[in-house]
Amino acid sequence: MIIYHRPADLDHHLQHLRTSGQSMGFVPTMGALHEGHLSLIEVAQHENDLVVCSVFVNPTQFNDPSDFDKYPRELSTDAEKLVDIGCDLLFAPSEADIYPHKNHQSEVYDLGGLDERLEGAYRPGHFQGVAQVVSRFMDIVEPNSLYLGQKDYQQFRILHYLITQVQQRKAKVIACPIMREANGLAMSSRNVLLTDTEREAAVLLSECLRQTLQEAHQHTPPAIREAMEEKLLSEPLIRELDYFEIVNAETLEPVSRWSEADTILALVAAKFPSARLIDNTLVKENGQFRTSL
Ligand code: AMP
Repeated sequence: MIIYHRPADLDHHLQHLRTSGQSMGFVPTMGALHEGHLSLIEVAQHENDLVVCSVFVNPTQFNDPSDFDKYPRELSTDAEKLVDIGCDLLFAPSEADIYPHKNHQSEVYDLGGLDERLEGAYRPGHFQGVAQVVSRFMDIVEPNSLYLGQKDYQQFRILHYLITQVQQRKAKVIACPIMREANGLAMSSRNVLLTDTEREAAVLLSECLRQTLQEAHQHTPPAIREAMEEKLLSEPLIRELDYFEIVNAETLEPVSRWSEADTILALVAAKFPSARLIDNTLVKENGQFRTSL
């Protein structure tokens, strides 16, 4: 695997490959790689001649400075994992490479209002920062396909809108399934920050999503939402429940009946003492109810 730090060096390397007609998949990450990230790379490898993974802890998407400071950074371990899995290229730029102008000012991206709810309501400016860094990476890498995790569903939905509809790039934007621990906890780089007891308590997020799937036939979305909020709030290690919502997967607007949309998603975000965690599941996909996470 080749590691590039400077955008110009990566671009130079990729120019040769582009002209030889090789298809390229791109997996952007913030590092501290786990099996969830690696599963994205595997899908990209399966569908492309060559895969580029980036590791960059993007300052402009952190609304909370302490979250940015304590975010795990493990570039050499990440590089080893990528070598083991056979990734072709790792792009690990510095902040100055990505944001040469010190104040990080950028244009305001049209995110179609999809950034106003859910994560957007609790993390002001987060999705503008995500749009900024991913736009910058898309300009540098120019992949044929961009691979994102459904773990960050709202991020996928927003980037799909931005890249395909607003910017009208040719790249495909592909969502990959959520990888979970055996107990159901969604894998996340932030899980390493949790204490053992928090980690056990955090399983409740996926349990509530699983219960939503089981009860979707008997109860309306608002009734399930209310029951799950109560269940989550009864866990003392959940210091704040930002939301448990059941939404139309396209518009991200809450639904009151299951017949309101063909694809419906349940999402949760909760603050534990050491980290804020998010999770979600598709409850209904193309008109069909799902039975398992
Ligand atoms: P991050 O490093 O957290 O920015 O994540 C990089 C990419 O990996 C994003 O597209 C995430 O949605 C995806 N990802 C994170 N966790 C998981 C997971 N448990 N399963 C699948 N994809 C994931």
